[in-house]
Amino acid sequence: MGAELFAPCASLWAATASPRATGMAVQAPLQVDVAVIGGGVTGLSAALHLAQAGVQVALFEAFEVGHRASGRNGGQVVPGFKPLPSALIKRFGEQAARRMMRLGYGCADELFALVERHRIDCHPTRNGWLQGAYSQASSDYLARRSREINAHGGTTRYLDRDAVRAATGSDYWPSGLLEESAGAVQPLEYARGLARAAADLGATLYEHSPVQAITSVSRGFQLQINGHAVHARKVIVATDAYTDRLVPQVAQSYVNVASAQIATDPLPAALQQSLLPLRAGISETRKITYYCRIDPEGRFVIGGRGRNGDHLDPATREQLRKAACERFPHLNDLPFTHGWACRVGMTIDDLPHLHQLADGLWTAYGYCGRGVAMGTTLGRVLSEAVRDTPASALEFPVTPVKRLPLYPVRQLSAMAALQWYRLRDAMGHPG
Ligand SMILES: Cc1cc2nc3c(=O)[nH]c(=O)nc-3n(C[C@H](O)[C@H](O)[C@H](O)COP(=O)(O)OP(=O)(O)OC[C@H]3O[C@@H](n4cnc5c(N)ncnc54)[C@H](O)[C@@H]3O)c2cc1C
Repeated sequence: MGAELFAPCASLWAATASPRATGMAVQAPLQVDVAVIGGGVTGLSAALHLAQAGVQVALFEAFEVGHRASGRNGGQVVPGFKPLPSALIKRFGEQAARRMMRLGYGCADELFALVERHRIDCHPTRNGWLQGAYSQASSDYLARRSREINAHGGTTRYLDRDAVRAATGSDYWPSGLLEESAGAVQPLEYARGLARAAADLGATLYEHSPVQAITSVSRGFQLQINGHAVHARKVIVATDAYTDRLVPQVAQSYVNVASAQIATDPLPAALQQSLLPLRAGISETRKITYYCRIDPEGRFVIGGRGRNGDHLDPATREQLRKAACERFPHLNDLPFTHGWACRVGMTIDDLPHLHQLADGLWTAYGYCGRGVAMGTTLGRVLSEAVRDTPASALEFPVTPVKRLPLYPVRQLSAMAALQWYRLRDAMGHPG
């Protein structure tokens, strides 16, 4: 962690965000009621909701808030879960699945309400989110997905080829699914706005304060930060793909995936009008998917699977540029002026995980590319969990941590899985 401690976050969002002063670092021993580790959307939302409930809370971030995925993502605010409602009911039972779906299909509403309540200046837009099909099988899948989601409280619309063309300005996708409650934010401004709102409500935020260890002690936990001991009665771990050795059993329960993005400068006005005229972000049903949108300033931003979680390599940059031009040939001669990458946590069941690791020690992670809205919502759920809401009353199922079966070779297994998914995508498998 040390060498990169003050590395800049070289994303479009960092380059265009309003300047801000760095927060203070831990420089002395501390005693807090609840410690939140990680200044991404999960941790920030947990801190905000705890402070709102009058709890004495301190958040500790290794770098600066929004330094990792929360400040570098595509900014697409997408409700719900990847698995179909029928799969959730089969796995969790009717009652738990219904409660979970109410939470999931409402999480974009929850995020935009939070933005409004705390006047977070993060360029919010609410034009929906599209999932594009790429084969007859995936069109059939989207039609079924739309029916199932709408039957469980979601608001989606199945779009045929003409409707997708009208929404995107592209012939690439044969059909699509529009999630009407979705939208977008400038992700780094959103994370920083959550931090400001949490601080305004009384949370204390420490930056450049990496937690080196968590030890169970009498009446709580001791954290080691910058050579000082911090005692907390309860702890929330919100470190997603960067959990590493801090909580090995968590780090061993998901796969780290690199996701990368490139962006243009604001497009010429005529091009801005013809590209994605609905201004909904779009992703695809493929397992190895690309996602893109136009931001409010008219920049085209596209992302997809990367090779390295720390920087954008030339091969990934070219792969993303090609993907952009395949979908929107009008972009052929335009330069992509920004490029960046980050790690993101993926679970093998395609669902986020909420765990109680010990009495008073909680975590949530693994949003599988949908963490902007769901991380915000599960941050709130974590704040309820550490305030002693019984697990059975939480709106998301609390599951035991399960180490991945092939953990020692999990990244190799992940690469093998990627090849398998590429093959499935090429064969037209629905999703
Ligand atoms: C390129 C990319 C594009 C994406 N696009 C989208 C999108 O458009 N829509 C969407 O919904 N999701 C998207 N995602 C996923 C989404 O960004 C994540 O799911 C979400 O941000 C996870 O939030 P988090 O707070 O749990 O974790 P993070 O944002 O990763 O935050 C964890 C924080 O913990 C800190 N930390 C780690 N270890 C320690 C320690 N020991 N001590 C103190 N601090 C520590 C890290 O520095 C980091 O700031 C994307 C992800 C990537 C990488």
